[in-house]
Amino acid sequence: MIIKPRIKGFLCTTSHPVGCEKDVELQIAHVKSQQPIAFGPKRVLVIGASGGYGLATRISAAFGAGASTIGVFFERPAVKNRTASAGWYKSAAFTKLAEAEGLYARNLNGDAFSEEMKNATIELIKADLGQVDMVVYSVAAPARQMPDGELVRSTLKPIGEPFEGATIDINTSEIRSIELEPASVEEVNDTVKVMGGQDWELWIAALLDAGVLADGCITTNYTYLGSEVTWPIYYHGTIGKAKEDLDRAALALQTPMTSVNGHAYVAVMKGLMTQAASAIPGMSVYLSLLFKIMKARGTHEGCIEQTTRLFLTRLFTGDVNDLALDEKGRIRLDDWELTPEVQDEVKALWGSVSQENLHEISDFAGYQTAYLQMHGFGFDGVDYEADVDQVVDMPLVYGA
Ligand code: NAD
Repeated sequence: MIIKPRIKGFLCTTSHPVGCEKDVELQIAHVKSQQPIAFGPKRVLVIGASGGYGLATRISAAFGAGASTIGVFFERPAVKNRTASAGWYKSAAFTKLAEAEGLYARNLNGDAFSEEMKNATIELIKADLGQVDMVVYSVAAPARQMPDGELVRSTLKPIGEPFEGATIDINTSEIRSIELEPASVEEVNDTVKVMGGQDWELWIAALLDAGVLADGCITTNYTYLGSEVTWPIYYHGTIGKAKEDLDRAALALQTPMTSVNGHAYVAVMKGLMTQAASAIPGMSVYLSLLFKIMKARGTHEGCIEQTTRLFLTRLFTGDVNDLALDEKGRIRLDDWELTPEVQDEVKALWGSVSQENLHEISDFAGYQTAYLQMHGFGFDGVDYEADVDQVVDMPLVYGA
């Protein structure tokens, strides 16, 4: 079929297999352009391995450190007249390209919150790798089925005060005002259940119990703090409460992880266009301003630049001082985003974004390109008029 972007609201319901493969190739090329990750992990489990930060981490580990990788994700294969999800195509491309270089890569598709997925992953580690040296938890989910069967949803809402802000329509570039009522206590609690640290703790407990974490194993989880201008909807909102819970979980995991001489870290990453981020009300204005300012300064990064810098300059230098943990014990990769110079520029422009000056003072065009490329569209060298097969097979150890 000839595949074009079909966008409804902030959702793009199609994705392009050739463009998604191109995206993975470019990420691999970035990793290869950097020095090898000499002290990097050799056997890595990534939970949430098909999207922005999780996929990039998998690529950094495999192509930078030569790691065998196991990826857990929740993606949709193609069906008649419907493309697969972008994460499906990208994981299939990753697997093909990794195996072409002799790198072990196995995939499990399904619900990471379930006990079945945890058991299937443990069985696979036992059978193929024995143990893993690194566990990356990078799930961003809209909902979670709890162990008792209850389905809870995460919400993106302010807490205490209503939120008034602006969002930009990805298709039309139209700026619209948005208003959100504060979350209820139940909504806050549910968001913490979905996006907080509990499932990370459950994974680590199950992996430790099964004896599949190697001596010195580290586990990481990703968080975002962001700029003061986004705090009302992000850090002080429902998602911020869930992120606070990650800090709690990282602390709680230190003791169990000592049984394998290991550590648990939360890494604070830069604000970027990913599936999860595109759903956050008001983030489009902030990210469009940020992209313009950071590109002008030459400090703009995508997920792959972030995860490769995390590996090369923080986690795997051979010197624990390079972790440079903050007062809450977190690794900071949002350092360039949060420099006072960058944030002062954002704040100076924040109140003045209008329909007339949008393309002049912000990089909304870059934001749009990043959105399209996330679904495999808008890459040079891909023929988007060509008839392509939307069915791309991917070997799966679990799921369909
Ligand atoms: P993403 O939407 O690109 O990827 C989410 C991943 O989670 C995908 O692999 C998806 O398949 C997987 N997933 C979702 N539900 C699942 C389920 N039930 N079972 C198994 N897998 C499931 O998101 P992202 O932005 O890369 O987010 C990853 C982490 O990084 C999140 O914790 C997010 O808060 C954090 N983070 C994101 C940003 C940003 O700007 N995007 C910044 C800092 C931190």
